[in-house]
Amino acid sequence: MSRHINIPVFIPHEGCPNDCIFCNQRKISGHVHAPGETEIRRIIEEHLATAKPEDYCEIAFFGGSFTGLPEIQQEKYLKTAHEYVAAGRVEGIRLSTRPDYINEGILNLLKEYSVKVIELGIQSLDEEVLKRSLRNYPPGVAVKACQMIKEYGFLLGVQTMIGLPGDTLKKSIDTAQRLIGLKPDMVRIYPTLVIKDTALEKEYMKKRYTPLSLDEAVLWCSILVQMYENAGVKVLRIGLQDTDELREKEVIAGPVHPAFGALVYSKIFLERIKDRLENMDLKNKSLIIHAAPSDVSLVTGQNKSNIKYLKEKYRFRDVKVIGDQKSRNYLDLEFRD
Ligand code: SF4
Repeated sequence: MSRHINIPVFIPHEGCPNDCIFCNQRKISGHVHAPGETEIRRIIEEHLATAKPEDYCEIAFFGGSFTGLPEIQQEKYLKTAHEYVAAGRVEGIRLSTRPDYINEGILNLLKEYSVKVIELGIQSLDEEVLKRSLRNYPPGVAVKACQMIKEYGFLLGVQTMIGLPGDTLKKSIDTAQRLIGLKPDMVRIYPTLVIKDTALEKEYMKKRYTPLSLDEAVLWCSILVQMYENAGVKVLRIGLQDTDELREKEVIAGPVHPAFGALVYSKIFLERIKDRLENMDLKNKSLIIHAAPSDVSLVTGQNKSNIKYLKEKYRFRDVKVIGDQKSRNYLDLEFRD
């Protein structure tokens, strides 16, 4: 089976003179120095050596604000990556950047070097949230950047954050609604964590910022994920890259969990089941939930949390999940006396 492989080239904080309240890019990417050409080639070759011929490989410049780099440096990186595209060894290039580093000149350059996907760090489209997060541009700039990227024919990825200073569930829903209207192809949703050595850490220490609880973050994400998926926007990631180092040493506070995405999808399954059980008298019946084998653990929930909840709330005699369905996401409920 063909896999989608991103060959990650981290460019930590390079090209970014900003200091967003939540960001310590060097800590997050785990790298301090930007890689040189030799190192980039080594990273690419290492990944290609383990890829199968049928895999879909992309070189992914992540970590900082790529298009904020001096043009000459962008071109250097792009030329190296483009060689691999031209040789047919990788399919394309993707990169992440800020909305205020998008303009016609930049998009022309990226087109020339066969960049396919541009991921924009949108975080929020709420004016107050952007201001308090020290993003230094108004929401309109992000909207315009999304529109231009689509007009140029790139695939558009949007990265959003929940629980930033001043954020509310309503504001996060409004942001998702407006983004969906801009037709992104993919989205990443990150709950805000308080990372060491950031301005947000200072706010947190002075008790001027309270992060979302784990339950709140799971609830908010479950709502947003459904909005995006219903609109056909692919959800690439929920929560940060799960690295022990980041979780244990760098996160001061916030809704961090090793299986955050699984918690969100379990919550979505639970809500779907609850919707179907509304207004039914189910006391002392048995419930059998039919799902795809790969969804059984999500439907069951961590430590059987969904099973326990359903049993208690609806007073079922028994609740079982059976993995006998072919399609992922499929749910069928059967009741027995
Ligand atoms: S623009 Fe991106 S890299 Fe720069 S400080 Fe903000 S989040 Fe970090």
